[in-house]
Amino acid sequence: DPVLALNGITKTYAKDTANPVTVLQGVDLSIAAGEVVALVAPSGAGKSTLLHMAGLLDTPDGGTVTLNGQEMTGESDRRRTRARREDVGFIYQFHHLLPEFTALENVVLPQLANGVSKAQAQTRAADLLARVGVGERADHRPAALSGGEQQRVAFCRALANEPRLLLADEPTGNLDPGTSDQVFDALMALVRSTGMSALIATHNMELAARMDRVLRLEVGQLSAI
Ligand code: ADP
Ligand code: ADP
Repeated sequence: DPVLALNGITKTYAKDTANPVTVLQGVDLSIAAGEVVALVAPSGAGKSTLLHMAGLLDTPDGGTVTLNGQEMTGESDRRRTRARREDVGFIYQFHHLLPEFTALENVVLPQLANGVSKAQAQTRAADLLARVGVGERADHRPAALSGGEQQRVAFCRALANEPRLLLADEPTGNLDPGTSDQVFDALMALVRSTGMSALIATHNMELAARMDRVLRLEVGQLSAI
C-alpha cells in the first residue's frame, strides 16, 4: 500500500457565492513508503489546500484520501484526528515552537501526549536533536536559538512520534539561502534515516531536484516534471 493516496480530489472555496474559487480539479497522487516527493506550485495554486487535505486537516468536496491503506474521507473527526496525530508530522515555514519550553521539552511534549514515558521521550528527543546538529542547544528556549536552529528543533518535534508521513510547507523558506541549504540537508538526512515518506512544498528548484520526484501543481492538477 502507498503511505498516502489522493484520488480525484476536488475543492472549491466560496461555493455558494457569485465568485467561487476552484482550487483543485481532480488531483491524483500516490506516495510509496520511503519516498520523498517535492511539490512546486506558483503562489495561490492551492499548495496549502492540498497539504491540508493530505494531513486530514480539511476535507475535499470530492475524491478520496487514503492514509496507510485506510480511506479517511468518510471517517469521523475523532478518527481523522487520531490518524493525524499518529501518522502525520507537520513542518511549516515558521517553527511554531512553544516559547516557554526548552528545545528538548518541545520535542518531549508531543511524545508524552502520545503516552510515551518521560525517560523514553527525553532519550529520543536528545537523540533527534543531536542528529540534526543542535544537541548542544537542547536546554535553550526558542528565543535563544538562531532561525536555522529553531527549524531544526521543529523538524525533531514533527518526527518525535515517528509518523509515517511528513508534510512540509516551505520548511526552509524563512531562512537566508546559505543557512537554508544546510538546514535542508539536515532535514533530508533525518527523513532518509527514518525511512518515512514525505511531501515537501518548496519554491527552490535546486532543493526540489534533490528529492525522488518533483510534482507541479497548476490550474488545479498535478503533473510530473
Ligand atoms: P497556496 O498555498 O498555493 O498559495 P492556497 O491553498 O492557500 O494556495 O489557496 C489557493 C487559492 O484558494 C487562493 O486563490 C486562495 O485565495 C483561495 N483560498 C484559500 N483558502 C480560502 C478560503 N478559506 N476561502 C476562499 N478562498 C480561499
Ligand atoms: P494536537 O492537539 O495534539 O496538536 P491536532 O490534531 O490539533 O493535535 O494537530 C495535529 C497536527 O496538525 C499538529 O502538528 C498541528 O501543527 C497541525 N494542525 C492542527 N490544526 C491545524 C491547522 N488549522 N492548520 C495547520 N496545521 C494544523
